[in-house]
Amino acid sequence: MPGLVDPADGSVTHAVNLGVDGARFPLADRLSRAVGGVPVHVDNDLNVAALGAAHAMGADGTDLAFLALGTGLAAGIVLGGEVRRGVTGAAGEIGHIPVDPHGPPCACGQRGCVEVYASGSALGARWPSRHGRPAPAELFEAAAAGDPDARRIKDEFASAVASAVRILQLTVDVRHVVLGGGVSALGAPLLDAVRAALDAQSRTSPFLSSLRLADRVSLAPADVPVAAVGAALVGRREELSWRS
Ligand SMILES: [Zn+2]
Repeated sequence: MPGLVDPADGSVTHAVNLGVDGARFPLADRLSRAVGGVPVHVDNDLNVAALGAAHAMGADGTDLAFLALGTGLAAGIVLGGEVRRGVTGAAGEIGHIPVDPHGPPCACGQRGCVEVYASGSALGARWPSRHGRPAPAELFEAAAAGDPDARRIKDEFASAVASAVRILQLTVDVRHVVLGGGVSALGAPLLDAVRAALDAQSRTSPFLSSLRLADRVSLAPADVPVAAVGAALVGRREELSWRS
């Protein structure tokens, strides 16, 4: 479940893009009742995706951020093999860091949030699908074919995603930032564009260059359903804790 989730009681208080806005919604209880009393555990979707990505990477994945480019923009963070949820569950909600106080309004009630520039829906709003295929794919193809508007929008999008990567690295300094979410289906062209934007942002800053941000960005594995794997891992831990 996206948003602010309390895994202890399975409730959700804020899911900005799903209309859950402040009132505590007892999702685990409702789901459990709907499926005949089976125990239900609820966690934040990106926390479990980060766990799944960490699991897929093996020993190299104990320290990573899973940055999802989808309807919104947010990250799940694994530090030392453990998910960092935060006191209120807001750790990794970097999409709602305002970067332009005069920018467009965001669904969260602030203005100019990173999510307004770097999410899949932000990209879809600027380059709507014209041929019935996903908007990111159509945009990147038009850019590759030389369309000047498409190139500009693609570059601005890549630069906004690179800013999100930079925010994550300057906050938690993880070994890997793994790009996931719907937009990551673009594959290598997305990774190339984000790496180029990170290099461009680092060019004037020996400090930023020293962090080698472009080398530390990768794509979520296309053949592993990381969120489902992570959810299974969370469920297994939960089962073990019931038995103990
Ligand atoms: Zn926001």
